[in-house]
Amino acid sequence: MNQTAIPFPAAASIGDSHGRCVNYLRISVTDRCNLRCMYCWNSEGMQFLQHADILTYEEILRLVDLAVDMGIRKIRLTGGEPFARKGLLHLLEQMLLRHPGLDLRLTTNATLLSGKVQALKDIGISWLNISLDTFNRQKFQHITGRDMLRNVTGAIDEALDLGMKIKLNAVALKGINDDELPVFINFARRNPVDVRFIEFMPMGHCNRWTQDNFWAAEDILAAARSHAVLTTLGPGERKSGPARLYGIEGGMGRLGFISPMSNHFCNSCNRLRITSDGKLRTCLFSDKEYGLRQILRHPGLSMQHVRRVLENAGKRKPLGYKLLQEMREHTIADKRMNAIGG
Ligand code: SF4
Repeated sequence: MNQTAIPFPAAASIGDSHGRCVNYLRISVTDRCNLRCMYCWNSEGMQFLQHADILTYEEILRLVDLAVDMGIRKIRLTGGEPFARKGLLHLLEQMLLRHPGLDLRLTTNATLLSGKVQALKDIGISWLNISLDTFNRQKFQHITGRDMLRNVTGAIDEALDLGMKIKLNAVALKGINDDELPVFINFARRNPVDVRFIEFMPMGHCNRWTQDNFWAAEDILAAARSHAVLTTLGPGERKSGPARLYGIEGGMGRLGFISPMSNHFCNSCNRLRITSDGKLRTCLFSDKEYGLRQILRHPGLSMQHVRRVLENAGKRKPLGYKLLQEMREHTIADKRMNAIGG
């Protein structure tokens, strides 16, 4: 199918009642994952969505066309694990053929990434967010339930060799990976990567979050300063998404901290999420969702109806930190990360 490039509109049209403008959309292409990470996977087992219930790639492309027309400039594809779904490379390619200027990114656990990096580069993907909480093989198996660390480190080497820009995201787990802080710092010292620690968020039931395994960004930063001389970056460099970044003296990479629990960034939040089953989620911490799949599949409804939902829901986008203050029993939201896409 020949894809003609669709021009970008002048202005963003999704704004909320807090004066925030939405220009970033995260789309989960599947809730399925080949890992069973302890902070994401429900200890009582979980059901994945039926194939008929998740958005088709054609439906995702229609949503992307509309989103771009409404001012979305950056799109991140997430999962579960996006490579757990067949045809992902083709979807990425179609997106950039239709929207050549789009800032299209991918978040992956990299266990299925090997051998695909060159294809990603050829499509026009320049940034990869890779989730990795440990460089220790036994601990990787303990955290994820799978012995697949070598798949990840091999894929990272491949991506670095091919010049892909990488952000390495580690969930900060006190008592589990805090002893590896020097290892992560050395990795950033030796490689042109952003290593970012993300505070553990209590998402979903049985999420194993406790005050004991919560490791606050300020504490990680303080500990990091005992392992490296961290340099303050120039204003333009200091931020990467919600992460606060620091240089490492004599190093190639940067160290970053994402602190949704202890130092929120909700006032500058510019994102919406669409789950793999076609629900619009205006805030990670809010379980209030808006069904888009039914509209997409309704013969009597059009993309104008979807546009109205995006506009109206966008207006009601909450300030997540306020929901955090109402957190009950160590759970902010009922839905799990694999079903939201992080
Ligand atoms: S908690 Fe909600 S409002 Fe705050 S940054 Fe995350 S998505 Fe945005």
